[in-house]
Amino acid sequence: MNDHGSMVRTDRLQPDAAGLARAAEILRHGGLVAFPTETVYGLGADATQAEAVAGIYAAKDRPSFNPLISHLDSVRSAQVQGIFDETALRLAAAFWPGPLTLVVPVAPTCTISDLARAGLDSVGLRVPSHPLAHALLAAFGRPVAAPSANRSGRVSPTAADHVLGDLDGRIDAVLDGGAAEVGLESTIVACLGGPPRLLRPGGVPREAIEAVIGQKLEGASETGNNPVAPGMLASHYAPRAQVRLDAKDIRSGEAALLFGAGRPGGIEGAAASLNLSENGDLTEAAAHLFSYLRQLDASGAATIAVSPIPEAGLGEAINDRLRRAAAER
Ligand code: AMP
Ligand code: MG
Repeated sequence: MNDHGSMVRTDRLQPDAAGLARAAEILRHGGLVAFPTETVYGLGADATQAEAVAGIYAAKDRPSFNPLISHLDSVRSAQVQGIFDETALRLAAAFWPGPLTLVVPVAPTCTISDLARAGLDSVGLRVPSHPLAHALLAAFGRPVAAPSANRSGRVSPTAADHVLGDLDGRIDAVLDGGAAEVGLESTIVACLGGPPRLLRPGGVPREAIEAVIGQKLEGASETGNNPVAPGMLASHYAPRAQVRLDAKDIRSGEAALLFGAGRPGGIEGAAASLNLSENGDLTEAAAHLFSYLRQLDASGAATIAVSPIPEAGLGEAINDRLRRAAAER
């Protein structure tokens, strides 16, 4: 589905070589494919293509951008994306492939788009064990961002029919692998330099993790003797600059985050300016959001002035993130 709400035909792909090849081809072209994992069905897109990732939020009708888990075929592929300390390596060796997600610092070689990371300097990675998920990831050869394949606010799907019940006409295909086994979501553990933290309980029990690392997992709080780098555990990225929303004109020295074809008054005096989408395309705007915020923040301007952005479709999630950034100070 696109921003204007037009429907696509959703194919049900068989779990065979032809189905897998078609699924990988759709991903390569920036499309959306739901696929089974050992936890629930995931809604996958090429994690390296920000516009494809924006499509996930549009199809799910998600009103906010939270970081997505990227799925890979092996520990080796995961190490291209993230930096694994000794604890993370131990957990990967013990529980991958399987229902464990590791949140680790972004590696310099990371190709996962900043929309999939919600602009954070950390990345959520998982190597699933479901044979079809593994076969798809191996055939595709790139990280696949995938939250659960349901409309926002509905229950996670454990069968292709559940996926179609929610997303038929909104995604390109579902790879039908029968029932998912666990039905629980993955356990999420952050390994960001300090003590490892449990961010979400799930398919791998806390005790099993603690047995492997020989220490207790902390909760998600940032208190403790060994705090992680600032912002790394934050649930969202926020710029250093003040953010001024609904800016119909630009004040001298502000950085301008524009949307659409109009040229706001005072733009000549801007310290820097970037346009999320000159055509007013919300998918393109979502794909640019985090990198443009970062670039404008790096200009050193005290304030980033943001053009009005319509509240429709992905505009809701874009405005949600901008409002949080504006409220921060
Ligand atoms: P899911 O809804 O199953 O796709 O899981 C997504 C969740 O994974 C997010 O809401 C976060 O809790 C967690 N997560 C993924 N990536 C990160 C990250 N880079 N930093 C912190 N948490 C993350
Ligand atoms: Mg979900």
